[in-house]
Amino acid sequence: MAHIRLERTIWPVGHGAFYTEQFRGGHGNTFTVAYDCGGKDKATIEGQIGAATNGGSTPIDLLFISHFHSDHINGLPTLLANSLVKRIVLPQLAEEVVLEAIVYNFIKASHGGHQTPSADVIQLQEQLISWVQSDNKENITEVVESAEGDVEINHIEIGERNGEAGQVNSVLPKEIRSGKEIQITELRKVFWHYIPICYKDKQKCEDLLVALQKKYDITNDQEKLDWKKVKNVLLEEIPEEERKPREAKYKNIKGIKDIYDTNFPAKGKGEQSHNCYSMPVYSGPTVDEALDHIHSSYRYNECLFARVVDVLYRRYFDILAQHSAHCLYTGDFEANIQSNLDKLKQILGTLWAKVGLLQIPHHISDSNYNPDLYDHRMLSFGNVDDKGDESFSFSIYRKISYSHHCLAVAITEKDEPLEFGYYIVLI
Ligand SMILES: [Zn+2]
Ligand SMILES: [Zn+2]
Repeated sequence: MAHIRLERTIWPVGHGAFYTEQFRGGHGNTFTVAYDCGGKDKATIEGQIGAATNGGSTPIDLLFISHFHSDHINGLPTLLANSLVKRIVLPQLAEEVVLEAIVYNFIKASHGGHQTPSADVIQLQEQLISWVQSDNKENITEVVESAEGDVEINHIEIGERNGEAGQVNSVLPKEIRSGKEIQITELRKVFWHYIPICYKDKQKCEDLLVALQKKYDITNDQEKLDWKKVKNVLLEEIPEEERKPREAKYKNIKGIKDIYDTNFPAKGKGEQSHNCYSMPVYSGPTVDEALDHIHSSYRYNECLFARVVDVLYRRYFDILAQHSAHCLYTGDFEANIQSNLDKLKQILGTLWAKVGLLQIPHHISDSNYNPDLYDHRMLSFGNVDDKGDESFSFSIYRKISYSHHCLAVAITEKDEPLEFGYYIVLI
């Protein structure tokens, strides 16, 4: 009989996303998984990374990245510099997808061209470019579209070889199929699994690339994207003495922003928008096959209504916590598009009904709302945007909490992380 302890933590990063799951196997060996690594600013995410990795000494065995917008990965340069990250699982690293992210991140970080982006954003852009340019993406696994009749399953053993460095690298291939399991085993018994789901629809990103190519010189002699030229176009400045009052410092930013906004309208209700490639990941126990018991507990100091209706609320929380082992991380998944959600449900099959903990997609933005997502689930979200303003929609919050019997908790805005503990007995 083997005992495994899992601690799942939702880190308080403000507007962003950073979640970890740490398994502690029977022999004291650990296996740590993270989903996204972004926060409202550099200091916040760095603090939480420090806490999550024990100052960098705990390696991350598996890091899932939902998509490349900076609020989800602005902590990545810090994490990679300070901790051993054994393998990164991310959506397809296509040129047009990286271009979209670089343009989006630059517009955001430069406040529409008025400010110089901070060094970490520039560092992040360099990281994305180096990944997409490199043929040898050593520790990267891309999630690609599944083929019909595909039965691929990937296994990772957490225990027996005392967590040798590089162990995960040798197990996960360079590409895995969307919707296929990554099974976690201890003593060769499967007890947990992850299911990443990627969306191949990159048409919007392709359209953006074509529109930018038409207006700016960003290609080489072979008419392929030239990242140096992309950077030059983004960073070209108007000399200060020639700048009109309140004019942006970057010469092309207005034109680029106009093209971006045309391709990705701010309220993309009902159509694919700029989060079209955000990759949800299911994480949960393989109860039926391998688990005898799951005991759950949680630790949380403060929550939205705790002070007002503490007793009632806590009881509700207790009940929901029992179902929270099955978790769905969504990043900025565009759940508002029914075909996206239908596909997600189809891939998860019977697991869909088991999901008890949901990261509300896109920071509870109303443009990504779909009532289908919220039945009897406990939820987590952040409610303040990157400028510190309340960004989430109260009408959506009310709909979720009252119409769907869900508990929506503003975890990411608090000082304390929310921790769930699961105690698994393998028989
Ligand atoms: Zn996003
Ligand atoms: Zn986001």
